[in-house]
Amino acid sequence: MRQTNTCPKCQCTEIYVAKGRKHSQNGNKIMISNFKVIPLDHFTCVQCGYTEEWVTDAKSLEVMRKKISQQKPRQNYSDFV
Ligand SMILES: [Zn+2]
Repeated sequence: MRQTNTCPKCQCTEIYVAKGRKHSQNGNKIMISNFKVIPLDHFTCVQCGYTEEWVTDAKSLEVMRKKISQQKPRQNYSDFV
């Protein structure tokens, strides 16, 4: 949808794009820590209302990639029987 500019649900080509803003109080965003906010861009089909959310900022994706490596690996709970 973001690349094709076409709605995957109804094939409409009229897509409304709402850019996320890092610093706005009530914009579209993901909080990944108290201080780090990832802006989300919304792509909405004006025909059927289908909406996708994308992180379109390459720097933000890099920050998230680093966050993954900081997350603890998932435990295998099968030993806890
Ligand atoms: Zn649509």
